[in-house]
Amino acid sequence: MVTSESAINKETELCLQTDFLDNFHNVESMKVALVRTMLHSVGKDPEEATNRDWFYAIAHLLRGVLNQRHIQTTRHHYRNGNKKVYYLSMEYLMGRSLEKVLLDLGAEDLVSGALSELGISLPEVIECEFDAALGNGGLGRLAACFLDSLATHNYPGFGYGIRYEYGIFTQDIKDGRQVEHPENWLRYGNPWEVKRPNVLYPIHFGGRIACFKNAQGSEECHWVDTQEVMAMAFDVPISGFDTNTVGNLRLWSSRATRDFNLRFFNEGDYEDAVREKTSSENISKVLYPNDKTQLGKELRLKQEYFFVSASLQDIIARHLRYHKSLDDLPDLTAMQLNDTHPALAVPELMRLLIDVHGYSFEEAWQMCTKTFSYTNHTLLAEALETWPVSMMAEILPRHLELIYLINDEFLRITRHSFPGNTAILHRVSLIDDERHSVRMAHLAIVGSHKVNGVAALHTQLLRSTMFFDFDRIYPDKFVNVTNGITPRRWLLQANPKLAALITEHIGDGWTHDLSLLSQLAPKADDPAFREQFIAIKRANKQRLADWLQKNFNVTVNVDSLFDMQIKRVHEYKRQLLNVLNIITLYNRICKNPGGNHTPRTFIFAGKAAPGYDIAKLIINLINDVAETVNNNPLTMDKLKVVFVPNYSVSQAEILIPACDLSEQISTAGTEASGTGNMKFALNGALTIGTLDGANIEIKEEVGADNIFIFGMNTEEVQSQRMSGYNPWTYYDNIECLKLCLDMIGNGYFSNGDKSRYRPLIDSLLHGGDHYMLLGDYESYVTCQENVARARRDTHDWARRTILNVVHMGKFSADRTIHEYAKEIWGIRSL
Ligand SMILES: *Cc1c(COP(=O)(O)O)cnc(C)c1O
Repeated sequence: MVTSESAINKETELCLQTDFLDNFHNVESMKVALVRTMLHSVGKDPEEATNRDWFYAIAHLLRGVLNQRHIQTTRHHYRNGNKKVYYLSMEYLMGRSLEKVLLDLGAEDLVSGALSELGISLPEVIECEFDAALGNGGLGRLAACFLDSLATHNYPGFGYGIRYEYGIFTQDIKDGRQVEHPENWLRYGNPWEVKRPNVLYPIHFGGRIACFKNAQGSEECHWVDTQEVMAMAFDVPISGFDTNTVGNLRLWSSRATRDFNLRFFNEGDYEDAVREKTSSENISKVLYPNDKTQLGKELRLKQEYFFVSASLQDIIARHLRYHKSLDDLPDLTAMQLNDTHPALAVPELMRLLIDVHGYSFEEAWQMCTKTFSYTNHTLLAEALETWPVSMMAEILPRHLELIYLINDEFLRITRHSFPGNTAILHRVSLIDDERHSVRMAHLAIVGSHKVNGVAALHTQLLRSTMFFDFDRIYPDKFVNVTNGITPRRWLLQANPKLAALITEHIGDGWTHDLSLLSQLAPKADDPAFREQFIAIKRANKQRLADWLQKNFNVTVNVDSLFDMQIKRVHEYKRQLLNVLNIITLYNRICKNPGGNHTPRTFIFAGKAAPGYDIAKLIINLINDVAETVNNNPLTMDKLKVVFVPNYSVSQAEILIPACDLSEQISTAGTEASGTGNMKFALNGALTIGTLDGANIEIKEEVGADNIFIFGMNTEEVQSQRMSGYNPWTYYDNIECLKLCLDMIGNGYFSNGDKSRYRPLIDSLLHGGDHYMLLGDYESYVTCQENVARARRDTHDWARRTILNVVHMGKFSADRTIHEYAKEIWGIRSL
């Protein structure tokens, strides 16, 4: 370590006194700095430079600002010695960074001014950046929002993740069907990351356990004869809004060990050496594209272990650089498990404490449970991770052994609390004896001091159903922390016009404290304000219409109601229910073309997991229905269906501000929280939704009159399931529903091909309609009629949308992070 009196440190302190950004604080000096960066760092003649070259020049310059501030932040944290939180997540759905960084630094006008003097357009430069799409959907986007809130509110928080070479696949639509392509987002290099070739840890797999008596005569067990892979760190600085704090996201990339290659080389087997290198480097190659399902693939287990082992070794090394021992680790460190994907951190920390640092099992266990907390993200049983015992025995034998020891101890205590109750022991065991698998959620619960759900209903259901036994065993462990979204990206950045209108009336304090929006509530009754609101929505719809025209050659009517369902495609999210309503409207218009039909544009976007056939078939159906309704002269003026390919964060930023009606229509009791619902309401869309996830809390905030709620609630869904839900009752009794299903089944949308959509019809009529689309159909269609009626009163619609916006304060990720900080992590803002 550099001592504070050293010459280097004096120079550094001097340097840190001036923020790097101050060196080019006017348009003239920024212009000079950008041209110089183009010459020196990008190495391109500015006259020849493309928009992409300018992107790299700007990013390079700003990275300098972020790096310096990050070092300053780190010095600050360590000088303070405060408790820190490490957020462990296999996914981060970051999107683009350039505009975010410009907004955070307050440098957007400066850079856009400098560029325009050079004849370059900032918006075009921004478009050159690839989305960092290291996640599937909501869970990964939540992690990205949290990093923003942690930095903005000056918390000592750090993210850990994997530097996938290939993030989520890009989606093409060919003949109406989803086609996946890998996307090498690092092709031109990632200007935001800093490679740390010296931050390198060995990760072990396979091998066996060797036990022996140590000098003190007690038994010690070690993991030996393993294969080794290296984890190399890449750091991505995370700016906060309007603060000098810069946080960090450390992403691990797998590398072959030099030793391993050498061994083969020495034995003269070059091909084996190369194969070994490739297989080691495959670990961080690609994100698994499954949202809420589990594949049980060996490479995925290796990825999970690779990630937690590298992160824990790093956290421990950092701790020991500033502290004598690990004794105070739990007092100074909190670790959050984002779902069970990093749950192997529990046995890995046990292994490091026991096998490497000499703690007893009991001491290590105390330390673990004090350190970890776990966020559950789903109520779908098929999404709960389990790993075959045999696979774990093969790849992680020492961890399996530790899991058995943890389980023995846990079951011993539980037996004590529930004498004679052997059923509960079977239910809560970390090992599923029938399926011979390890239950990762049980491991995460037992290894954590707090477990949280992500919306009030979700937490309540976790406690009453899925983890009922655990709630009895640990009465204080389960807590709710309702999700949130960052208002910087999802309002300030995505909807600058609305952001400006808000700031004009209440100042810009809302960017840090979204609850201040409520000051605008009286404006809902102000006709002039409503007019401004309507004009902004229209401008955003026009922006989207232009974008659809330019990129997809699709024309939409900006005067129609923009009705959007954009999210991963999954049966429980019920895109198919939306389609049933569209077909119902289509039939109605065909029957009575002169009727008073509210023109609507239905916009869908979302990816399906590549192996999820039913979800892919739903995408196919949406596109086939679009083909039919968009080309029928009777309906084309009233109905338009658009499927926007390759949904992403950047697409969400242009779609959401243009939305009138947000579809949040999952079967009650299936969507843990949803965060898309929050983004839409914050941007002045009304929600049509079920009493599911955070929709319930949105309803509480905006008022029942300002949201369209339909369908069964969770209790009704549960009692229908108990009493034998029968989809045929609805098919036989609701004529327009029967017509829709028969049209799909008889090939109306597939050129007479009756087989194409058979699996969809079968899943509804013969497969039991698990998500109860037919049960909610009538209520949904009626509710959509109410929407259409409400829409005719433009001013009253505007009033309701304003009330949605102003009552979104609760759903800021800042509020969420403050709750985690106080109730779970015990950390304080600096
Ligand atoms: C917010 C977001 C999600 C989550 O949407 P839900 O409607 O909550 O499922 C998924 N993908 C992207 C790109 C997002 O921005």
